[in-house]
Amino acid sequence: MQSSPGRNAFKFFTESMNEEISKKLRLETAMKTAVKDGEFFNHYQPIINTTTGQLAGVELLMRWRNNDMLIPPCDFIPIAEESGLIETLTEQALIRALIELRPLFTQEPDFYLSLNLSAVHILRSDIAHQFTEILKAHGLTNRCLRLEITESIFMSDMVKARATINEMKRADFVLLLDDFGTGFSSLTYLNEFPLDIIKIDQGFVRNMSAKPANKSIIRTIYLLAQSLNMKCIAEGVETESQLNYLRDVGCEYMQGYHFAKPMAIDDLLAFYEQHERSRA
Ligand code: C2E
Ligand code: CA
Ligand code: CA
Repeated sequence: MQSSPGRNAFKFFTESMNEEISKKLRLETAMKTAVKDGEFFNHYQPIINTTTGQLAGVELLMRWRNNDMLIPPCDFIPIAEESGLIETLTEQALIRALIELRPLFTQEPDFYLSLNLSAVHILRSDIAHQFTEILKAHGLTNRCLRLEITESIFMSDMVKARATINEMKRADFVLLLDDFGTGFSSLTYLNEFPLDIIKIDQGFVRNMSAKPANKSIIRTIYLLAQSLNMKCIAEGVETESQLNYLRDVGCEYMQGYHFAKPMAIDDLLAFYEQHERSRA
């Protein structure tokens, strides 16, 4: 006897839900051991000042290798956020970065690390104080660290978000709004919060030639940033023509595969040496 399509749909739904839940549980359990076993490591993606050609800073992108498999951040970050492990992971990654990037901090006085922060982490912890202490312990000032936040921080506890962001600003951290243009992109937030830099989302950059409207959006975001006294970084720059368009708009700072992919510290240091040699 054939069961009704309705029943099948229901069975399919519960099975895929079960699969999803058990995948999450598996990752959550593995993650707890992974933190202790040091399975997490850092990749860094160069951020280039395209006017001078200089390596301005790097963005830290976390990586997890579990049983020879690289688990993408879009899979493990949400689980780390839910399970409360994100605080430990971020703190460990930051400390690792400050140690690994020491040669660059020493050689380049304005070099900085850009760190992605989860909204739940910002809202649960006293980041301004904790990060200040960590930087101090490594002989660095807060200007060496830029903090990337997303609009999701404004969605839950606005009062706490405001207090925390003001606190981070008072502590002299440079604040970036990541993925701008993908969410609510509220102009109120841009105006009300002491944010320094807008990151133009890579979706606009990637589809620039296929969707000409994206070019107008990029230009508009850049002009908006300018009129609010903010700077812009374009991410996901993969081609020469994207680079040229962004330059033409006036956007100086860029990152993307056209310059370099995210990479481990040894490759980054080699990239820096080679990059500096070619500029000389
Ligand atoms: P994101 O912060 O927007 O980071 C940019 C993502 O785009 C990275 O993916 C990077 O590898 C990728 N990317 C950079 N340039 C290009 C390009 O030219 N073309 C293409 N196709 N992709 C490019 P990744 O490393 O997989 O990270 C994905 C997301 O995971 C990040 O998006 C961020 O939201 C999150 N994430 C990564 N590391 C951390 C972390 O340490 N903490 C937190 N809270 N989130 C993180
Ligand atoms: Ca980011
Ligand atoms: Ca982004």
